[in-house]
Amino acid sequence: MPVFQGILLLLTAAAIFVPAVCTADEPTAIASDRFRQARDHTFQSFDAQSERNWRGTYFFLQLADTQYGMLTGNMGSEKEAALSQQAVEHINRLRPRYVIVCGDLTNATPKHARYDAQVSQYKQDFSAIDEDIPLVCVCGNHDIGNRPTPDSITIYNQNFGDDYFSFWVGGAFNIVLNSSVLKDPSGAPNVLTAQHEWLDLQLAAARKAEAKHIFVFQHHPLFLNQPDEADQYFNIPLVRRTPLVKKLQMEDVRAVFAGHYHRNSHGQAGTLEMITTGPVGKPLGNDASGFRIVTVHEDHIRHQYYGLDDVPQSVDLQPIPQVTQPTAND
Ligand SMILES: [Zn+2]
Repeated sequence: MPVFQGILLLLTAAAIFVPAVCTADEPTAIASDRFRQARDHTFQSFDAQSERNWRGTYFFLQLADTQYGMLTGNMGSEKEAALSQQAVEHINRLRPRYVIVCGDLTNATPKHARYDAQVSQYKQDFSAIDEDIPLVCVCGNHDIGNRPTPDSITIYNQNFGDDYFSFWVGGAFNIVLNSSVLKDPSGAPNVLTAQHEWLDLQLAAARKAEAKHIFVFQHHPLFLNQPDEADQYFNIPLVRRTPLVKKLQMEDVRAVFAGHYHRNSHGQAGTLEMITTGPVGKPLGNDASGFRIVTVHEDHIRHQYYGLDDVPQSVDLQPIPQVTQPTAND
């Protein structure tokens, strides 16, 4: 066979074969995409059976509001990229069990012209996290809009997987909620209804499986300081907040972790801790850009926020040693 005919045959075969390969590869690509591990309302990276068991103290990192583009009004996101890259260096050195980013990954909302560029930059920077450290993403009001709709949620789902899901890690049951539909359900009332029904099933399953802890992660704080504080931009309206807080308290949820406030804040509803964490991106208060280290012990948790310039070299999982007072003979 003349050489050029052979090449022609090969090219023809390749043209027929390549599209079939691409289609077959698509599910594999999604399965291995670390940003789309939230599927079927669980997080695929964690083994649902083995992670139910307590295997000793561990820690995770809670980040919030990377919000690429906020510092420049969407003109660029170099500053947020630099802050996130600094956070990723800490993550790879500390080696947490997992990292969770509690929303407002980007400043632009899905319909904004800069949205795709900001999502790409976010994914580029956070892809540098070591592959064996799972990265859990949570949707915020910038990720799906202040008045989320089925369309805006679908765009988020295509980029980052499910907007609400649950997963086990080392005996703790973790529930991620879409808090933007709690804040304003008017554009997607069915999503809020479905999430409520799903949440009830999750809490019942966690109780039945005797979870050591139940944690909830979302973007909006339920409240900043007091469970009955007045409605304002940064909390969930009382009409939906009060019954949810009551439900989480009844089910013995240990803590709710949130962001959105761009500052740290802490409140308590009985034994339920409401922990609001400052931003990786632009701070709106005195706390510098940073993240929270959360240590999960068998019967309690410890957590501390660190500015990016003050993060410790390592995390000590040992209980804090008791300080003994010196005696006269010392
Ligand atoms: Zn927000």
